[in-house]
This record gives sequence, C-alpha cells and structure tokens, in this order.
Amino acid sequence: MLIKSSPDRYDKLQILGGMAAADDILTAGKADSGGHSLSGKFAAGSFGSGPNRVAYSDPRKNPAPGIYKASLPNGKKINLMRVMFTDFCKMDCAYCPNSIYVPRKRYAFKREELADTFMELHQRLAVDGLFLSSGIAGDGTKTTQRMVETVEIIRKKHGFRGYIHLKVMPGASRELVERAHRLGSRLSVNIETPEPDMMRRISPHKDLQKDILDPMAWINDLTSSTTGGAVGQATQFVVGAADESDRQIYRRVDQMYTDWNLKRVYYPPFRPARHTPMEEKPPVHAGREHRLYQMDWLHRVYRFSTDEIDLAFDHGGFLSLEQDPKTVIAMENLDAFPIDLNAASRDQLLRIPGIGPVSADRILQNRRGHSIDNWRDLQAMGVVRKRAWPYVVFPGQRPPSGKQLRLDLFGEAQDRRAAEAAGVSLPPPKSPALSAVMETPASYTPDHTCIPGSRGAMCAGCPVMRPGSDTAT
Ligand code: SF4
Repeated sequence: MLIKSSPDRYDKLQILGGMAAADDILTAGKADSGGHSLSGKFAAGSFGSGPNRVAYSDPRKNPAPGIYKASLPNGKKINLMRVMFTDFCKMDCAYCPNSIYVPRKRYAFKREELADTFMELHQRLAVDGLFLSSGIAGDGTKTTQRMVETVEIIRKKHGFRGYIHLKVMPGASRELVERAHRLGSRLSVNIETPEPDMMRRISPHKDLQKDILDPMAWINDLTSSTTGGAVGQATQFVVGAADESDRQIYRRVDQMYTDWNLKRVYYPPFRPARHTPMEEKPPVHAGREHRLYQMDWLHRVYRFSTDEIDLAFDHGGFLSLEQDPKTVIAMENLDAFPIDLNAASRDQLLRIPGIGPVSADRILQNRRGHSIDNWRDLQAMGVVRKRAWPYVVFPGQRPPSGKQLRLDLFGEAQDRRAAEAAGVSLPPPKSPALSAVMETPASYTPDHTCIPGSRGAMCAGCPVMRPGSDTAT
C-alpha cells in the first residue's frame, strides 16, 4: 500500500490551482454581452456564483486540476493553467480565505517544480498558457521575485513563448515590476477597493497608493514607453468588502482607464470566508456584479462619458438592480429621444436601449441601401424591440413623447412596488415627476383604445402587456 507523507506536485496543483480559481481575472466572462436586464439567477433576491466562474463546468472535461478555459484579449480560447505559487500569506485582509486568520495547512511550489510541471503539461498539449498568482510570503518584492524567477525558467530554460499572465504582488519594487514586464504577456495588480481609507479598514497593512497604485503606474510607464514585454494590465475589486458605493468604484475605474489605459477591470462580489473577521457579513448580491460589468461596458466599449454614466447612479451612489444602467441613463435623458433611426449617428444609436455595437453597425450598413421602416428588419439586425421601441422613430413608428415618459416612469414605479412588496428598500426616486407617479394607484389607462389580442407597434414594450405574453390585457 502506498502511503504519501507529503504532497507531490500534482497534489499541489490540485490545491493551489483550486485556490487560484477564486481569482476572477481572465475568467471567460458572460458580462461582456453588455446591457441586458437581470433575469433568472441574477434577478433581485437571488445569489448566484457569478457568470461562467469556471469554464469547465463538467469535471470530466477538465484535463487536469488547476486548468481552466479562458478567453484571450483577441477572443481566442485557451487552456490556462491557473495556479498560486503559494497559498501562504502573512497579510490580514479581512475578507480573504488565504489571510492569517484562517487556520489550515498551506502549500508552496518550488520554482523548478512549478516550471517543470507547467512545461510537462504543455508538452502533453493539456495547457496553452499560465496564470500565476500567489499569497504574500515574506513581502511583496520577495514573493514577486520567486514568481518572476519561475517564469524566467519557463521562458529561458524551456523556451516557452506563449501566454503568461503574471500577478505583481502589492508592494513589489520597481526593479521587480520591470523584470515581470519583460517576461509576462499581461500583468495585473489587484486593487480590491477604490479608496485608501477603505483599504485601511479591510486590509490594514496594505497602503493603496504605495503598494498598489504606484506599481500600476510603473506598469503603465513600461507598457506605453517600451516595445516588447507585457502588452497591458488588468485589475480587480472585491465588490462590497469595504461597503463602498458603485459610484466610488466607478470614479476609480474611470481614473484607471483614463490614466493607465487598463485592458480590463474585474468585479467579483464579496463572499464571506470562514474564520475571517467578515465571515458574518452578508454576501454581495450577484446582480451588483452584473450591473458593474454593464457600466464598465458602457464606458469601455460604448464610450459613454463620465457625465452620462453618472446619471445611472441613484442617490446613494448605487446602480439599479431592476434596470440596466443604459436604460436608466436613457430615462434620465428623455429629451434626447425619440431618435430617428434613418438619420442617427453611430454614437446616437448606441445610446438607445436595445441597440448594441453590432446592431448599430447593421443599421448604418442597411441604411445605405434603403430606409429603415419596419420592426421585422430591425429585429433581424439584432435590435431588441421590447427595449428600443419607446426611444426610436422611423416611418410607421413614433412613440408619443408624453406617453413615452409616462410609460417609462410607470415601469420604474412597478419595479418599486415589487421591491416594496418583497421588503427591499430602494432610495427615493430622483425626479419629482416620478414621485408623483409613485403616489398614483397601480393602474394605467392608455391614451388610445387597447384592443385585446392586438400586436401593433404601439403594443411592444407596453407595461399593460401580460407578463410573458405578446398580448395586451
Ligand atoms: S494579500 Fe492577497 S492573498 Fe494575502 S490575505 Fe490579502 S488578499 Fe489574501
């Protein structure tokens, strides 16, 4: 009988690969699909595990422990060996399962051992790239040095030229950041929380400016001023750990995208970990993560300005869980609608709920051949009629402006009544007009004759439609 007294490298890969799975950077994320409303497991009141957290949902398809499917920046899918150098950490981050608070056995790879394991799996065609993270053993510089030396073995001794995402530990020196930049394909430093005082509360021994923002600025200097080496950086928050608002997160995200040309920001929600000081703190609603990815998408892909995105936050600085941010912004900007689909620019089309970059480009392309004049063509171009109809005009479609306003506000009023019935308190409505609507009874009288069974252009998206039906009540 074989009795193992110490873990071999595959045992370590299983343990430390499992720990790295909690890291959201480079997970294939469904949030990239952009502004859709919440439904199913992301609906208000439900707690999911987040979108596509682990791509190999069927363990039988997982080629080895610690190996996950990931999307590269160019959209290509690869098998990524995602592993921590060690799960030992001397830090006291109050939310983290690797912190000093958690009593459990810890493991660490040796440099050669980790490099050889990766190369062996690569030669067996089980992995195409490496994502290397770690707890902080010693200090940020020493830990980053061990990780850099491991990657040096992989690059220089074994000649591997593929994808390597290297985490830079908080507090790493500039010299280590430069070495990491020369070796990695992408670098990241986890920001965790937007403000220095919040960092002091949840992670007393981390200095947000010195340990995290300075290394991020150095990475930006290197990626923007030198050729070769890592091509960009990413970061991630632990959403809700410091009770920060979505607006505070957005302020920091805006600064990082603007100043440091970040490639991606990730928004994993806080989940309580046993034995930590925050184990009694409730988990953050999965819908909040989804809304933050939508906000990020509006900023990064749709190029919404900071002033526009500001309209999406409520009085407490949070994004609505009931409405996606693009719809909230449109409702706050009703004077800009309806938009003529036959004359609008691409930027204007992207402001319409239910129209994304692909459908906007298709509208512009189709417009060159003929005018837009029916919903069937628009739906074939990818326009979501139910969301877009109050905001667009074309021959045969004109939402009455007064009615449009009333319908939109009525929709929000309905959400508020549902929230109140479920015992969820929402901040007060922003506009006095909405307050007036809130005082009216839950009934609605359309300003035209409503014909049961009708399916005209006026009916799409109408709040008196029966839920799940195409037919007006
Ligand atoms: S430094 Fe990182 S691994 Fe260590 S306790 Fe803090 S969050 Fe966890």
